[in-house]
Amino acid sequence: MTVVAATKYVSVDEMSALVEAGIDVVGENRAQDLEEKHALHSGDFKWHFIGHLQSRKVKTLNGICELVHSLDSDSAAARLEIPALVQVNLAGEESKSGVAPEELEAFLERCPAEVRGLSTMPPFADDPEASRPYFRRLRELAERFGLSELSMGTSQDYRVGVEEGATFVRVGATLYGREPR
Ligand SMILES: *Cc1c(COP(=O)(O)O)cnc(C)c1O
Repeated sequence: MTVVAATKYVSVDEMSALVEAGIDVVGENRAQDLEEKHALHSGDFKWHFIGHLQSRKVKTLNGICELVHSLDSDSAAARLEIPALVQVNLAGEESKSGVAPEELEAFLERCPAEVRGLSTMPPFADDPEASRPYFRRLRELAERFGLSELSMGTSQDYRVGVEEGATFVRVGATLYGREPR
């Protein structure tokens, strides 16, 4: 299981603190921020992209990222040259990106990118247990399609994510003593 430290809370100048803290893998939400942070710290971390993936940003990410957690469009998939996890919108929330579960099979069949697994962001809830059915459903989908990686769980529900088989958790707030955003 790999802990991905979400760096959206951390400025370029503060990234050295993560090196000192022994963080190995970082996940950034914005391609431009990732590019800036990578420019100064390329060798210090493994770089993942966890934010909404716009196809026009894929080219930037291809050169500097190891894994994208948020593939959900054909246009991005066509340009992607690095491995990806397909983001699944399990609750059908309008506000969230991700492939609908009933469209996942067709998306995977036509996907030209190397898909290693699935990721999800369940509806926000105060009780971490509320995420469990979503994480379980994601694991079942991954098993059905023979995918081994599962990116699920953030500060408030990563323990449940791990119990349900996460191979990646993405945590930010809890690492820095911040409120989630
Ligand atoms: C910010 C963020 C995280 C981390 O969430 P925390 O609540 O800060 O742990 C995980 N995944 C994505 C996509 C994020 O934007």
